[in-house]
Amino acid sequence: PAIPSAPGLLGVSGSGLPRRSWSMTTGRTHRRCPARAHLESLFLPRDEPAEDTDAIVRGKAVHAWIESRHRRTPQRPCEPDDVPGPPEAWQYEGWSLSGLQARLGIQMIGDHSLVCPLRERPEDVEVQPERTVAVYDPDADTVVVAKTDLLYRVGGRWTLRETKTKRVPDEGDLLDQFPQLALAVLLARAGALPGNGDCAVEMERLTASGPVVTGIDTAAPDVVARARSVLEPYVTPWHADARYPAKAGKACEDCPFTRWCPDAAERRVT
Ligand SMILES: [Zn+2]
Repeated sequence: PAIPSAPGLLGVSGSGLPRRSWSMTTGRTHRRCPARAHLESLFLPRDEPAEDTDAIVRGKAVHAWIESRHRRTPQRPCEPDDVPGPPEAWQYEGWSLSGLQARLGIQMIGDHSLVCPLRERPEDVEVQPERTVAVYDPDADTVVVAKTDLLYRVGGRWTLRETKTKRVPDEGDLLDQFPQLALAVLLARAGALPGNGDCAVEMERLTASGPVVTGIDTAAPDVVARARSVLEPYVTPWHADARYPAKAGKACEDCPFTRWCPDAAERRVT
């Protein structure tokens, strides 16, 4: 009963399969290889994941640092000079950066203070970093799970903010680039986020040329339609799939489940 119900959230119905759970990760993984999504859903032990790229490490370190600032009590806004160091090489929570990525990471963390949701009315702000949102779609017989970057309330207004670090931001439609935003739009419309059906959604991009925060109009019918069409290829093939065939080949290269998969292209060298 604690899980709210949102009929039609995913826009699919009647697979005849047992109840399952779906997240953006499930959708992404299923597109790359249905077998991998299935093995992941069984919580099988993973082999050591492939090494992250420098940019991914920088993104994780920046996220972790900002999250730690938002979790302080009493809560207070992020400050431009409250950054890790030294600038040529630093580490945070196991992520080690050096050179360009170290300097870029510090710049991004400093830039965030310019757009920090706590910066204006810290006494009347509530923040919930990394909150997991779960909602049940009875039409799809699926529990939808979303790990949000930050939910916050200023005065009476709730907002979901996703944050991405990218040296050079892409042009083009944000929902296309970040399908989790499309899911956020549908969750907001379905009343599955705090704020009684009126939760705003925004994207914070930390780039080499500064911070950009973009609001998404979740009440606009064309935005909602766009969100549905962005999510469709992540939802519909997964929802209809009862067999989870392997897409052996490239998808095996960084798969942590190849030892469990009879169809894996080749056992990854670890
Ligand atoms: Zn902040």
